[in-house]
Amino acid sequence: MKRLTGQDRAVTSRWRPATQAVRGGTARSEYGETSEALFLTSGYAYDCAADAAARFAGEQQGMTYSRLQNPTVEMLEKRIALMEGAESARCMATGMAAMTAALLCQLSQGDHIVAGRAAFGSCRWLTDTLLPRFGIETTIVDGTRNDAWAEAIRPNTKLFFFETPANPTLDIVDLAAVCDIAKKAGVLTLVDNAFATPMLQRPMDYGADIVAYSATKMMDGQGRVLAGAVCGPEEFIEKTLLSFTRNTGPTLSAFNAWVVLKGLETLDLRIRRQSENALAVASFLEGRVPRLLYPGLASHPQHALAMAQMQAGGTILSLFVEDRRQAHALLDALELVDISNNIGDSRSLMTHPASTTHAGLSAEVRAEMGVTEGMLRLNVGLEDPLDVIDDLDRALKAAGL
Ligand SMILES: *Cc1c(COP(=O)(O)O)cnc(C)c1O
Repeated sequence: MKRLTGQDRAVTSRWRPATQAVRGGTARSEYGETSEALFLTSGYAYDCAADAAARFAGEQQGMTYSRLQNPTVEMLEKRIALMEGAESARCMATGMAAMTAALLCQLSQGDHIVAGRAAFGSCRWLTDTLLPRFGIETTIVDGTRNDAWAEAIRPNTKLFFFETPANPTLDIVDLAAVCDIAKKAGVLTLVDNAFATPMLQRPMDYGADIVAYSATKMMDGQGRVLAGAVCGPEEFIEKTLLSFTRNTGPTLSAFNAWVVLKGLETLDLRIRRQSENALAVASFLEGRVPRLLYPGLASHPQHALAMAQMQAGGTILSLFVEDRRQAHALLDALELVDISNNIGDSRSLMTHPASTTHAGLSAEVRAEMGVTEGMLRLNVGLEDPLDVIDDLDRALKAAGL
């Protein structure tokens, strides 16, 4: 009987997502190891000079240099592509390397893009500060309004770029409607899917062209390494993206790829449990704080849309207190939940975006995005949610709530 391998796309694409996350892309060496091997090598040796020449000419299969290919990184790329339902994927050193590469590899002077206003701080720096330096214009829109996307299209518009749910306001973009608007106008869509991961939402099922990740977040999921990925059609990845990344070098280290492979094995379990925990914590906070945003609660303005395109509400919620003083007082009173700006970790972490992740943006941009001085973002981890609730209850009282 033939053993199934994680390399055979005809077989692996029929697997269900949890199976793909454990076994997809796995390639065994001649030792038959069960866990993926970690290939810490920068280069590769050839049997003869003619082989080296043939490999560089692309006439012989095989690897030449780890900026270009690495067996451990390739296993992760195959696994992520499979889970995403993408033809191909390439990993990058960080989520921001993935976003930067996905933008710069295809945009040129004179191009125009449309981006959702609620976005990770560094993503806004790319659209607001970096791209204009190269003559690429961005129109920022309220991503929750479908007609805003349509109205922003110009003859030179190349790309729509957005997150859903967005960091940290948890705005939801209507994937099917916005991807459809883009398609009809001949515009590509680039979706940052870090919050949901393919376990809760696969943007390509709704027509997205390119999906990019910070794998630092839920995919590693235990706060260990930085990593990123770009998924898309083979033509885009192999031609447009690879010539850019192979020559500019935002390569993921084999060690970090190996850690993320281990993380993916438990992604399905973790994201489901953390979403359940987040719902329990959000239900406790509702009514206890002046305002709360969690896509899994009926009080979220786009709850129905979130539940239609996501399998659960995700691990992150935002709560709003009076002002910065009260927000900092709440953080300082926490005993269990860490004050930390990371997300996707199995530990519960809370941050004050206005003074950390979004401090680099102007007060006007923060206000326009909905990042107020009293906003706190909570990543709910794998602890017993009752312990997280106890900690929040005490800290809220200490902060006068
Ligand atoms: C964290 C994050 C990024 C950046 O990823 P890094 O791995 O930290 O570079 C981009 N987008 C979103 C939505 C994120 O949460």
